[in-house]
Amino acid sequence: MDKTKNIAIVGAGINGMFCAYYLLKSGNNVTIIDKDREGLTSKNNAGLLTPSLSPIPKVSNLDMIKAMTIGNGALYISPYQIIKNSNWFIKAGKYINKEYNMEKFVDLGMKSLELYREFLNKEKIDADLINGVAALYKNEEEAKILSKKYNGKFINQKQINESGYQNFSGGILFDKEMSVNPVKLFDALRNKINEMGSRIVLGNEAKLILGQSGNAISYIEAGGEKIKADKYVIASGSWSNALSKPVKYNPHIIPARGFAILFSTDNNKIVSMPSLLEDYGIAVAQHNKNLVRITSFFELVGTKNNLEEKRKKWLLNIIKSHLKEYNKMKIISINYGFRPCTPNNLPVIGKVNENVFVASGQCRLGVTLAPITGYIITQLINNNDKNVKKYKWLENFVRN
Ligand SMILES: Cc1cc2nc3c(=O)[nH]c(=O)nc-3n(C[C@H](O)[C@H](O)[C@H](O)COP(=O)(O)OP(=O)(O)OC[C@H]3O[C@@H](n4cnc5c(N)ncnc54)[C@H](O)[C@@H]3O)c2cc1C
Repeated sequence: MDKTKNIAIVGAGINGMFCAYYLLKSGNNVTIIDKDREGLTSKNNAGLLTPSLSPIPKVSNLDMIKAMTIGNGALYISPYQIIKNSNWFIKAGKYINKEYNMEKFVDLGMKSLELYREFLNKEKIDADLINGVAALYKNEEEAKILSKKYNGKFINQKQINESGYQNFSGGILFDKEMSVNPVKLFDALRNKINEMGSRIVLGNEAKLILGQSGNAISYIEAGGEKIKADKYVIASGSWSNALSKPVKYNPHIIPARGFAILFSTDNNKIVSMPSLLEDYGIAVAQHNKNLVRITSFFELVGTKNNLEEKRKKWLLNIIKSHLKEYNKMKIISINYGFRPCTPNNLPVIGKVNENVFVASGQCRLGVTLAPITGYIITQLINNNDKNVKKYKWLENFVRN
C-alpha cells in the first residue's frame, strides 16, 4: 500500500460497510454516508450465502407475459418500468436464460464465503450462522439433474420432511454454503466499523461534486457539509445510477423489490434447514428459536413499497402448504427491500475514473458477495491490482 488515504463511501448497506471494513483494516481513513439511518435492503433479505444458487431460474415468453400483466408467482414487471427503463430491458433480453459467466460468478461467491468465515471467526461475530442451504423441488427428477449440474448433494423426500417441510419430492443440499441472520450481521458489522474508527454519517443524502477538470470528483455534499476525500466509492445499491451521473458513468442498475416477512414461532423449531423453494422463488430460514424469516417476490416496480393483499395471500398459501408446522407461526412484521440489479445479473465492481470506484449491482446475491466486493475495492484503492487480477472481468464489465 502507498500511504494512508481518506476514502468516502456513499451507502452504508452491507456492500459499503464491507468496503469500509477492508479499507480500515489496511490502514485507511473512512467516512461512510447514508441517507437512511437503518439498513433497508441489507437487513430485509433471506441471509442465504449461496453462490451455487446464483443462476437465474429459466423464464419462458409466457412467464414474461404473465409477469407483465397479472404477475407470475414471485415475478412481477410493471409495464411502466419497461417504458421507463427500456435500455435496461433491451440489454436484459440478450442475457435472459443464458448462464453468462456463471462459473466465474460462482467462483467469486465461493471466495466471498471464505472471507465470511474468516471475518466471523476473527471478529468473533455471532450472526446465527447455519451451515448448509437447500434448494427444494416438487419434481424429484429435476432435483436429481440439477444436483449434478450445481455440484450439490441430492436429498430425498424423507430427508426434506425431517427438516420441517412437506410436499416436495427432492432437493439439493449445498453443505459448504451457509445462512446468517441478516439483521445480526448488519448490526455487528456497523458496530465493528464504528469501533475501527470509521466516521458514519447517517440521515443525509449525498451528492458527488465534480472538480474543475471535469473528470475527478472534488468532494461529496451531504447535509450541508463538504466531505473531501482522496477516493470515492459508490456503494449505493439501487440508487447507484443517480450517484454515478456526475462522472458520466451508468452502471445500469434498477431496483427489484422483495419482501421479508418475519414470524414468531412461540419457541417452536419450524424448519431446521434454510431452504429456497425453487418452484416459487421463496426462501425460508429459522435462525433462532422464535423467528422464521420468509422472503420472496422479484418485482420491477421502481421503489414503491406496498405489498398487495392478493400477492401476500399467494405467498402465505404456499408457505402453509409446505411448512408442516405453519399453524405455530404468527406474522410479526412485513418489510421490503430493493435488490440492485444489472441487466446481465453480474455485479459492477471496479474503477470508474481516477478517483471514483463502484461497488454495486449484486442483485439477488448482494449479501453473499459483500466481503469479496469490499476486498476487491480495497485492493484497487490500495494499488494492489495484482491481488485481484483474477477479477479483472468485473472491471471490464464496468467499462463496457
Ligand atoms: C427479499 C430479498 C431477499 C434477498 N435475499 C438474499 C439472500 O438470501 N442472499 C443474498 O446474498 N442477497 C439477498 N438479497 C439481496 C441483498 O439483500 C442485496 O443485494 C444487498 O442487500 C444490497 O446491498 P448494498 O449494500 O449493495 O445496497 P443497500 O443495502 O441498498 O445499501 C445502499 C445504501 O445506499 C444508500 N444511498 C443510496 N443513495 C444514497 C445517497 N444519494 N446518499 C446517501 N445514501 C444513499 C441507501 O440508503 C442504502 O442504505 C435479497 C434481497 C431482498 C430484497
